[in-house]
Amino acid sequence: MFIEKFKVESPNVRYAEDEIEAVYHYETTELVHESRDGAYHWIVKPKTVRYNFKTDTRVPKLGVMLVGWGGNNGSTLTAGVIANREGISWATKDKVQQANYFGSLTQASTIRVGSFNGEEIYAPFKSLLPMVNPDDIVFGGWDISNMNLADAMARAMVLDIDLQKQLRPYMESMVPLPGIFDPDFVAANQSGRANSVIKGTKTEQVQQIIKDIREFKEKTKTDKVVVLWTANTERYSDVIVGLNDTMENLMASLEKNEAEISIYWIDISIYIVWDSLCAGECPFYQWEPSKHLCAGYGLIEMAIQRNTLIGGDDFKSGQTKMKSVLVDFLVGAGIKPTSIVSYNHLGNNDGMNLSAPQTFRSKEISKSNVVDDMVSSNGILYETGEHPDHVIVIKYVPYVGDSKRAMDEYTSEIFMGGKSTIVLHNTCEDSLLAAPIILDLVLLAELSSRIQLKSDGEVPPGTPVVNALSKQRAMLENVLRACIGLAPENNMNLEYKTE
Ligand code: NAD
Repeated sequence: MFIEKFKVESPNVRYAEDEIEAVYHYETTELVHESRDGAYHWIVKPKTVRYNFKTDTRVPKLGVMLVGWGGNNGSTLTAGVIANREGISWATKDKVQQANYFGSLTQASTIRVGSFNGEEIYAPFKSLLPMVNPDDIVFGGWDISNMNLADAMARAMVLDIDLQKQLRPYMESMVPLPGIFDPDFVAANQSGRANSVIKGTKTEQVQQIIKDIREFKEKTKTDKVVVLWTANTERYSDVIVGLNDTMENLMASLEKNEAEISIYWIDISIYIVWDSLCAGECPFYQWEPSKHLCAGYGLIEMAIQRNTLIGGDDFKSGQTKMKSVLVDFLVGAGIKPTSIVSYNHLGNNDGMNLSAPQTFRSKEISKSNVVDDMVSSNGILYETGEHPDHVIVIKYVPYVGDSKRAMDEYTSEIFMGGKSTIVLHNTCEDSLLAAPIILDLVLLAELSSRIQLKSDGEVPPGTPVVNALSKQRAMLENVLRACIGLAPENNMNLEYKTE
């Protein structure tokens, strides 16, 4: 059975006019490695840590600024939200299609809230805590191409033509602000697109972007702005001591107009600085692709110092998402993947940019470590340091446009030396997979900026990277459940097993 909403009644939860407060007892373990009777033993001690969650339930008017707004993802997301907001339906060759948010975890998935008269009861994921309604988001952003969003949607060739015709009047007046462009960081084939760029030194460019965000916020009368990078993947850049390794060096390099500071770095630094300037009005920043760039580099240091949320390292929408499900399943079932080979071909602008070896390398790095945590979790299947062969190939084939083809071959060792080979083939518009996930990132980033968390335990530095999709989803759901004092979904179903 499906219910739309619910309220928790518990001595540990307090609903006030503008907030929900929950006391939560986190059941975890403490590990000790100690010598007893002449040998070392691992001792596991269950422990309970008390957490206090406080969620501000006032939902703000949200602005979203996309770096690369006129791209396939940016235009498809904007179009999709407008179509939902306006309740647009359109004719396809199969049927009359209604706008929807399929593919969005927050908007189109459910959670189990319990059982009633022996029946399982589910509610929308978004009913856990008050979230921004995506229909109410105001979009803006930058692009190095000055094409308006209606034409950008047509250039992307993603949405049905009848839908495009209905959306055109809403999108014609949306024109991206000029972006920062440095041809050295993207494929040479992108230069033709760059007809709307911010001139000047890196410091002047930073000032312009800050001005852009401020003006956008004033003009749209939004309470918060999330910035998300969905521009072209940049080439790999190294950490260079003295240049970008610390916050001070990064800021100094910006001022000195150093060449090896990518646009991506400039943008992130700007947002973090901007965020701290607005003192809580735009308290976070989300980003996407260009991988590696988020690690170290003084940016994390800067974000922590300024109490700003940053996140992201490419995002997985299709083939990589499947990989983080399939390898988790195989390794979890005691099966040993030994070779994972992924081919893609696509014909959109992202594919054209990735056809240059230097930008492909960034993508390859971000995709190659997606099975690491699952492999290292099973010391029965894998020796220390052992790894499946993992190869990723991306080719640019203009004819297929945004309709990406992904072909994967997983070979695994099974019982008694047997081999099992699974082959997958997926054809799908890349941007229709990406857009609802971008929406989730934005909505969850906004929500997390309203949640305060205090514990009586110690917080160790760093966080382990979890790639397995089911674990990521469980984490998200269970943290939101904790905010309203509900226990994690543990799938034990004990209520059906006892007398
Ligand atoms: P796209 O090429 O259609 O869009 C990128 C846009 O960014 C273009 O309009 C381009 O003009 C603009 N741009 C380039 N450099 C810029 C800059 N410095 N400032 C402002 N704008 C700039 O690509 P897309 O298909 O929309 O994908 C966007 C990004 O998302 C790519 O990096 C891609 O690798 C990544 N990604 C996409 C998917 C997916 O589509 N399923 C999944 C994971 C990651």
